[in-house]
Amino acid sequence: MSTEPVATEVGRDFIRDIIQTDLDQGKYKQIVTRFPPEPNGYLHIGHAKSIALNFGIAQEFPGRCHLRFDDTNPVKEEQEYIDSIQADVHWLGYDWGTNLFYASDYFDRLYEWAEKLIRDGLAYVDDQSQEEIRTSRGTLTEPGKNSPFRDRSVDENLDLFRRMKSGEFPNGARVLRAKIDMSAGNINLRDPVLYRILHAHHPRTGTKWSIYPSYDYAHGQSDAIEGITHSICTLEFEDHRPLYDWFIEKLPVPSKPHQYEMARLNLTYTLLSKRVLTQLVRDGHVAGWDDPRMPTIAGMRRRGVPPAALREFVRRIGVAKANSVVDVGMLEFCIREELNRTAQRRMAVLKPLKVVIENYPEGQSEELEAINHPDDPSAGTRRITFGRELYIEQDDFMENPPKKFFRLSPGNEVRLRYAYFVKCTGVIKDDKGEVVELRCTYDPATKGGNAPDGRKVKATMHWLPAANSVPAEIRIYNQLFANPSPDASNFAADLNPNSLEILSDARVEASVAESNSTEPMQFERQGYFVRDKDSTPGKPVFSRTIGLRDTFAKEVAKG
Ligand code: ATP
Ligand code: MG
Repeated sequence: MSTEPVATEVGRDFIRDIIQTDLDQGKYKQIVTRFPPEPNGYLHIGHAKSIALNFGIAQEFPGRCHLRFDDTNPVKEEQEYIDSIQADVHWLGYDWGTNLFYASDYFDRLYEWAEKLIRDGLAYVDDQSQEEIRTSRGTLTEPGKNSPFRDRSVDENLDLFRRMKSGEFPNGARVLRAKIDMSAGNINLRDPVLYRILHAHHPRTGTKWSIYPSYDYAHGQSDAIEGITHSICTLEFEDHRPLYDWFIEKLPVPSKPHQYEMARLNLTYTLLSKRVLTQLVRDGHVAGWDDPRMPTIAGMRRRGVPPAALREFVRRIGVAKANSVVDVGMLEFCIREELNRTAQRRMAVLKPLKVVIENYPEGQSEELEAINHPDDPSAGTRRITFGRELYIEQDDFMENPPKKFFRLSPGNEVRLRYAYFVKCTGVIKDDKGEVVELRCTYDPATKGGNAPDGRKVKATMHWLPAANSVPAEIRIYNQLFANPSPDASNFAADLNPNSLEILSDARVEASVAESNSTEPMQFERQGYFVRDKDSTPGKPVFSRTIGLRDTFAKEVAKG
């Protein structure tokens, strides 16, 4: 788990401004926020925005941030999700300390408060079906209709509600509704449902409850119980705020939290709906929640995305009141920037082409020095073995090159990184006419990559020794969706058929293969890669976190 310090430099946004004003006015001594995931799936990058905001605020201002599981729907919730959420928040670099809570811890109190609402004439048991409730709710232009059960006596309501609790009725037979106003302009105030009957096993309360509170009823009261001062949610809850406030006003809650809404994060080429992500996993479109193509925290971790890059991304996008779609290129920029700074350099050949250096003595080899990080001398150097047989990248050779191709071709000279100038003298083909091996000569006077006579070459290429490199599988990931704005309701049609490319004949430096490190590395000229958990002792697997910037690739090619 990451223990690196969390970046403290943050921009100002409307939520932080509100908090500063509240503190200046002496409204609170301490700011208390919470991150309230429903444990019905793995966290995604949208959640990272909410985590960084809520936990970030608690670090910047005197305060604390709670992790609260909003576990009010036992049908979709699982312990696996509870565990993964905690691991992901920690990995992102945040800690709730002792402030771990569950909405289910408050079920007794929520129940007591529901009885109070009934006694105060503010809630009633409705026998209508879900469908009847839906159709009698009205529309934006038409008021709703009162339920025929709306005027039940307090005693009858209490009796029915207690029997709902004791499990006497089947699922869906009745609900408890708040008695507010069926003609309210805000549909959320048209007698919203507080409790529904659900005979289901809950990960924490087992079979104790046959009724479960709605999000709207549970959420604000949980905030109040925990003394949350600023309850931050996404914009679609703006219209729920009057209901949030109604409960806080009508119930004897121990504190009065306020709800604030911010825009949710949307990304191009990405869907962040838990329903879609769950389906991608269940239908086998991806290899699991931590598939490196998934926008989940677990997927990005497996892909080698550093937590610092996610924090920086979230810092850059800021917190706004209007919804927008962020270009996924911004995320990629933050990942590259962080990895360029931190990742050690190595060499790998993704699609090997064998090279025999004809004038290099058979049976001989030598150790050359390679630097681990161009901007960080403290990263040190390593040794690479040069010998008669090497591998280069198939794409770095063309038998009949076009004009601007400066890499290897018959008669052309290039530099092999950290090694020598080599010149192609011959091409060996198989029966089908495909190039399977190159013959080259090297210039012993160019050791280290420079010619004493000052002659230049236009390309510097990576390579590997045949004897001291190891076969590996390399996985190249592309966008999971081919459409920049995938259709959530028919996402399968927008899936990118080429989101995963497997290169099973790749080779990596022997030291890379031997190391079990899960730190991402840069494979020179190819991008950033990380060892995958699918590695076996005989065959390591590396996932490409992200490619290099095109401009950078060109710079290196120029040498
Ligand atoms: P669901 O559809 O299951 O409600 P959800 O994405 O809202 O999905 P929650 O577990 O309820 O999932 O979310 C936990 C917290 O993360 C909430 O406070 C929610 O507002 C916030 N959150 C979820 N998605 C995003 C997003 N895309 N951008 C910013 N915040 C988000
Ligand atoms: Mg939600």
